[in-house]
Amino acid sequence: IWGQAREELQKIVGADSFATWIEPLRLSGVNEGTAVILCPTRFLSDWVSRHYSDDILKVLDRIEGPVHRISFETRSQTSRQVAAANSEPKRPAPRAAADDELTAPLDQRFTFDNFVVGKPNELAHAAARRVAEGGPVTFNPLFLYGGVGLGKTHLMHAMAREIQARQPEAKVLYLSAEQFMYRFVQALRDRTVMDFKELFRTVSVLMVDDVQFIAGKDSTQEEFFHTFNTLVDQGKQIIISADRAPGEIKDMEERIKSRLQCGLVVDLHPTDYELRLGILQSKTDTFRTQYPGLQLAPGVLEFLAHRITSNVRVLEGALQRLFAFASLMGREITLDMTQECLADILRANDRKVSIEEIQRKVAEHYNIRLSDMIGPKRVRTVARPRQIAMYLAKQMTSRSLPEIGRRFGGRDHTTIMHGVRKIEELRSADRSLAEDIDLLRRLLEA
Ligand code: ADP
Ligand code: MG
Repeated sequence: IWGQAREELQKIVGADSFATWIEPLRLSGVNEGTAVILCPTRFLSDWVSRHYSDDILKVLDRIEGPVHRISFETRSQTSRQVAAANSEPKRPAPRAAADDELTAPLDQRFTFDNFVVGKPNELAHAAARRVAEGGPVTFNPLFLYGGVGLGKTHLMHAMAREIQARQPEAKVLYLSAEQFMYRFVQALRDRTVMDFKELFRTVSVLMVDDVQFIAGKDSTQEEFFHTFNTLVDQGKQIIISADRAPGEIKDMEERIKSRLQCGLVVDLHPTDYELRLGILQSKTDTFRTQYPGLQLAPGVLEFLAHRITSNVRVLEGALQRLFAFASLMGREITLDMTQECLADILRANDRKVSIEEIQRKVAEHYNIRLSDMIGPKRVRTVARPRQIAMYLAKQMTSRSLPEIGRRFGGRDHTTIMHGVRKIEELRSADRSLAEDIDLLRRLLEA
């Protein structure tokens, strides 16, 4: 069936996309409505699942009968894992989850090593590390909370792996609150609630991600509460995450809330510029090994860190798309390409600074007249600030070069481009200029 599916997919996505994205995939089988597709790399599976899973689903469903879901499996994931274990012989290889059937699979990328620490998350990170490493002071339960995409699941997986590596005999159970509920409901249906209870009560560490999910689900909440109490009474470690503080979870029973608060409660704050830049740099280093020839113009990561502030997941997705695009096109990643390739994401994160505001602030900062921004003067003391304003206009707004040109006294778009390039060049060579620009940007964003 894969042969036929491939033919149809080729018609739908076109020959080029097919060769790049679909050709390397293999269908491993269809089981109870789930098609398992093997991908050679994680990157490919991420990309395909984001862009082509609907098409693949539709085609398979038509040819093969009911297919509701696709599960992408990466082969290289296992080999990469082995390689890592070999290069660090001292450390025991993380054992497979204690109970494969019960524990959700851990994401290989979510380790402490890959977690970038900054002001907004240092407390949560320190607490997670402390609990994972074990030690005289225990925090039980540990309650981590924060907005979407700020690293809760990443930290939870990192802890699960670390605990398992340090105590191979411990039974570490990690699952989302949704999975907890699903299994509970299943046990009710199959009349195996006793087994269910037994299973949970034999774990040494219970980790439940996104616990806000069971708010309002009465019988699940009740079961969770009993499991929780039993484990705490036995001195077992509990680690919980949620998207908000315990006290703020609606439709959660008071007694559960207060139990959740009796250990340590720490939050992940929204990212700041430094953290975002750090994360981008770290992800870029990882990508570089995947795409050896990749060229990245100076200022691109800074641009992204300034402009994409929503959450780390969006930031990562943007970077990944950019690298995929550049490698497909065989081009250097420039600011222009970034703006073109990520236009939708940038628009959603737009901070709406106007070109006039930029001109005013820059003129003020360099002590020149606002009229000089649009005037014809060519002396360096005026021309340089003007170019800085052009550069900031290009970086901070979604205006095109001709539009920016119009607002700089009707200059041609090539003049604007030249100005932007000039500043790009200078800022990577001249530290104080780079700092000046950062300062201006901060002022404009405030
Ligand atoms: P949450 O569970 O809080 O919604 P996740 O843990 O799923 O968020 O994080 C979203 C993505 O962002 C993941 O790919 C994760 O690896 C990444 N991420 C978040 N914070 C960091 C960080 N500090 N360093 C590196 N990657 C991070
Ligand atoms: Mg999560």
